[in-house]
Amino acid sequence: MKTNQILIVEDDPWQAKFLNRILSHEGFEATIIPSGETLFQVVETEDFDAVVLDLGLPDEDGIVLARKLRARSSIPIIVVTGREELDDKLASFDVGADDYLTKPVEPKELAARILAVIRRANAGKETTAATYPLGDHTLDLQQHEVMDADGKAVDL
Ligand code: CA
Repeated sequence: MKTNQILIVEDDPWQAKFLNRILSHEGFEATIIPSGETLFQVVETEDFDAVVLDLGLPDEDGIVLARKLRARSSIPIIVVTGREELDDKLASFDVGADDYLTKPVEPKELAARILAVIRRANAGKETTAATYPLGDHTLDLQQHEVMDADGKAVDL
């Protein structure tokens, strides 16, 4: 199985190091960027499975970044922040975050939540590709049908 690649957006070097250590220990491969400046470029050029996003960032707020990222990509976003206010949580989910965790994070919980959002994202992908070639026929797992070469359902 391929190692899940996680992009961490965190400006605090100590926190970034801590998150990186947690994720490596839990079997992920993590890359750290300290601000949103290179976020879109990095997400578009490299194949990440999820983004762990801080909210208090130097150039742009994490909520703004999450909204912009969601407009370009369906990559799972997990907010990890010191902000505990309900407004921040609601705003994050509203712009497309998939999960929200407050610091200090429990390493096992962070790992479990990341895996959960990746699993949901992958499940979504699988349902869009539910047809498989079967000789000169096609098996459609969504419609529970077998189609012949002309695309007509075969009576089984
Ligand atoms: Ca921060």
